Amino acid sequence: MRIFDPHIHMTSRTTDDYARMAAAGIAAMVEPSFWLGQPRTNPGSFTDYFDSILGWEPYRAAQFGVVHHATIALNPKEANDPRCRPVLDLLPRYLDKDRVVAVGEIGYDSMTPEEDDAFERQLALAVEHELPALVHTPHRDKAAGTRRTLDLVKASGIEPGRVAVDHLNEVTIELVHGSGCWMGFSIYPETKMSPPRMVELLRRYGTERVLVNSAADWGVSDPLLTVETAEAMLAAGFDEDDVDRVMWRNPVEFYSQSGRLDLTGVTGAAEPTFAGSSIKRGGE
Ligand SMILES: [Zn+2]
Repeated sequence: MRIFDPHIHMTSRTTDDYARMAAAGIAAMVEPSFWLGQPRTNPGSFTDYFDSILGWEPYRAAQFGVVHHATIALNPKEANDPRCRPVLDLLPRYLDKDRVVAVGEIGYDSMTPEEDDAFERQLALAVEHELPALVHTPHRDKAAGTRRTLDLVKASGIEPGRVAVDHLNEVTIELVHGSGCWMGFSIYPETKMSPPRMVELLRRYGTERVLVNSAADWGVSDPLLTVETAEAMLAAGFDEDDVDRVMWRNPVEFYSQSGRLDLTGVTGAAEPTFAGSSIKRGGE
């Protein structure tokens, strides 16, 4: 089984996570830039973070034989902070970098006018830089937020097939299915989607344009929930090819639209390629 996690925040995870993921068959991942919990107070704090997920994190992943790419954006929450908005002007030079496979996470948090503006400007950047867009849907007011997201995507002129609308559930899938956009699902241990609920949606809506991720970050989350979902699919009667489509070929197809997805380092095997401890320990 080969797995590609299309949305995971490895910056918040440990080397134990990398080792367990590699051993379970997770061979590739995309790390969207996001909100770090602690509010950032200046644009330099963002550029150091962007450099880290484009430089340090792929290096760390490679120690475990995992291929790492990133998406770059001003996230919806911090789009509301006037101290962070100048980041929008710094994005073009990042969007041209080799390991950047989409603009993201963009979208709505509280649906403010500032978020409208940042979302709109970053969809325009995606078009201009010929990149796909990874769109976060809000946790509150989810249906309204998803509707407004689709309206803005439509108005932007970006091709729907180049947009992934993420963090969907049983209600919001109805809105996105049929829009031409990709449908992303984050599998969480406690809230949002669980593996059995995801399997039920795959049974009902099929495997086309579906992306399944763990969205694991600094909150309660589990980087192996993609694997658990794959196993739940097999137990429910989906075959290996269905699993490979959802867990590997779909994310490859979506991010390949950037022209920058480089999977040459993928071993394709479930065996971990990391056996020792050649990675430096934290702080060294
Ligand atoms: Zn995220």
